[in-house]
Amino acid sequence: MDVDSTVKGFYEQILQRNAGEPEFHQAVSEVLASLRYVLRKDPHYADNGLIQRLTEPERQIIFRVPWIDDQGQVQVNRGFRVQFNSVLGPYKGGLRFHPSVNLGIIKFLGFEQIFKNSLTGLPIGGGKGGSDFDPKGKSDMEIMRFCQSFMTELERHIGDKVDVPAGDIGVGGREIGYLFGQYRRMTGRHVSGTLTGKGLTWGGSLVRTEATGYGCVYFTQEMMASRGDRLHGAKVIISGSGNVAIYAIEKAQELGATVVAFSDSSGYVSTPDGVDVELLRDIKEVRRLRVSDYVKETNGATFHKGGNIWETEADVALPCATQNELDGEAAKLLADHGVKYVAEGANMPCTHDAIQVFKKRKIDFAPGKAANAGGVATSALEMQQNASRDSWTFEYTDKRLRDIMRNIFKNAARTAEDYDVPRDFVVGANIAGFKKVADAMIAQGVI
Ligand code: NDP
Repeated sequence: MDVDSTVKGFYEQILQRNAGEPEFHQAVSEVLASLRYVLRKDPHYADNGLIQRLTEPERQIIFRVPWIDDQGQVQVNRGFRVQFNSVLGPYKGGLRFHPSVNLGIIKFLGFEQIFKNSLTGLPIGGGKGGSDFDPKGKSDMEIMRFCQSFMTELERHIGDKVDVPAGDIGVGGREIGYLFGQYRRMTGRHVSGTLTGKGLTWGGSLVRTEATGYGCVYFTQEMMASRGDRLHGAKVIISGSGNVAIYAIEKAQELGATVVAFSDSSGYVSTPDGVDVELLRDIKEVRRLRVSDYVKETNGATFHKGGNIWETEADVALPCATQNELDGEAAKLLADHGVKYVAEGANMPCTHDAIQVFKKRKIDFAPGKAANAGGVATSALEMQQNASRDSWTFEYTDKRLRDIMRNIFKNAARTAEDYDVPRDFVVGANIAGFKKVADAMIAQGVI
């Protein structure tokens, strides 16, 4: 088999069948590039339409979400749930509420989720959903009415054995609460395993809030340790200031690193002496303010409106905000300033060009599907607790998370070596995630 032209053929079909979905094309193209290595060794993975089936969602749901704002006006948003692949278990993946959401973005996220969930070693399939609803500036009652309307349609498509959504950008504990409340009202049942990221008194898991950020830092620790480096004493840039970023900052500093910059979409804050995490949490999670407000309440931090966070000097960079936030130019800046490790806390924050720069400049790079898998892994631990009507301690759950991240690192590193591309964690993670899904798809027949 001519692997290169076979893969090219697959990609051309993707472009043709999924026009106008650049983020989905980007995610598929990155995975296909890694699959070249697999197909050279094991060409049978191209048989029986396996790749075509893997890149075609099992089901895509698009629905109208009407709701009434505080002025009594009717607003109409669009809701999505893409149930991509359930070969390993019920669909699992977050809901994103952000004005940029469209079908292509949800498909890229759902596609990535398949491999990420496979890497966790837990029995969960891949899915993703959301809406182009913008929670920014909305009142609490507006958020609640929107969530209730969104769930009114979503309810018929989800369930603890079918599809288990969680949070993502714009969907945190508050939104999960309103969504779960409406689900419970509609079904008349308290099936806690239907959503994850729940409150601790009604089926939530300790560590879930912290899990993605902590997990990303645990992965980074492993990656550094494998070169004899440590986070202790390192300078770290962490973009974003949402759920993932806040807990990545917290854990990195707990381990002795100094977080020298964080951001939101309006600019970045430089913090040469480290971040006051308690203040940041209060500003973002309680008062729901902006990062510019952080500098007003502390000394030694400066806000750079519209600035480029990647121009900061550091040893480690953890992009934890959003897709394509770090491009080739930014990657060059990081390399010039001495960054040696990059791990994606967000989904696909680094562009293709950025990843090429990291490769060229010998910077270790961990893709999101490996480095940010701690969130969904802990969601699966939440499902386990719900199924057994149990709740675990913080220490136990955190240890499970740490072990899972260590295993993901080892698995990605070992697979990269098996395919003669040592320390290429993109190829390692893609292939390790793919093979488990592909073998299960082969075993379960053409469906
Ligand atoms: P949040 O909504 O809690 O936070 C998102 C943060 O990113 C905010 O600080 C936001 O700032 C910032 N941001 C958004 N767009 C931009 C931009 N263009 N430039 C700079 N900053 C920006 O989301 P999460 O922290 O939950 O998610 C962050 C990323 O992590 C996403 O890619 C998500 O898919 C991924 N992820 C999340 C998981 C989770 O468990 N939550 C699990 C795995 C991955 P602003 O307020 O200005 O918009």
